[in-house]
Amino acid sequence: MKRFEYIQPEKLSEASLALGKSWEEALPYAGGTDLYGMLKHELVQPDKIVNLKKLPGMDKIEYSQKSGLKIGALVKISQLVKQDVIKEKYPVLHQAAAQVASPQLRNMGTIGGNLCQRPRCWYFRSEFQCLRKSGDICYAVDGENKYHCIIWRRALFHCSSLRYCSGFTGPGCTINRRK
Ligand SMILES: Cc1cc2nc3c(=O)[nH]c(=O)nc-3n(C[C@H](O)[C@H](O)[C@H](O)COP(=O)(O)OP(=O)(O)OC[C@H]3O[C@@H](n4cnc5c(N)ncnc54)[C@H](O)[C@@H]3O)c2cc1C
Ligand code: SF4
Repeated sequence: MKRFEYIQPEKLSEASLALGKSWEEALPYAGGTDLYGMLKHELVQPDKIVNLKKLPGMDKIEYSQKSGLKIGALVKISQLVKQDVIKEKYPVLHQAAAQVASPQLRNMGTIGGNLCQRPRCWYFRSEFQCLRKSGDICYAVDGENKYHCIIWRRALFHCSSLRYCSGFTGPGCTINRRK
């Protein structure tokens, strides 16, 4: 594993400075359940890891009738499951959060990390240089794609390689993009 600098900021301004502008050089670290695997398999090789855990106010869930639901990026998945307001008013979210991975992962994994985790695609997580890794082919189209979402012509929506797809039509949503 490549050596990296470890930074634990206590203010948002410090975190923002440490993360800089390049996604490749510094990576945020929340629960680590995705990031550790990525580092271990050398799928990412940042110069800096910025631990977000001590940043104030990012682990809160707020609800009001007027503004709706606000979930901080550092809220753990298990916190969502325990909230009565989510169970009552956002049952689909509650059900999804209750079923993610395992109790251990739900206790460590955060909402920010869940939304920002890299593709779970088998090809991405191994040595294949697919579209998502600057290659020119999506191996999952004709390969292992059992848990992927929607296949359309040349790429899968699973990993947001949308720019390579020529079109998609679905309930309430039509997207047409050309390379
Ligand atoms: C065995 C296993 C089973 C799983 N099953 C499921 C499942 O069924 N459903 C599902 O949805 N997920 C599943 N996951 C994924 C799991 O939900 C994520 O690993 C977890 O939510 C990531 O959160 P984290 O806080 O640990 O993120 P980290 O590992 O800390 O970070 C993940 C990524 O997000 C970035 N990041 C983290 N926080 C932020 C932030 N605030 N802003 C910007 N970038 C950020 C990191 O740099 C990293 O690239 C599974 C994972 C494992 C290991
Ligand atoms: S779906 Fe295709 S492009 Fe996306 S990560 Fe998998 S192999 Fe790569």
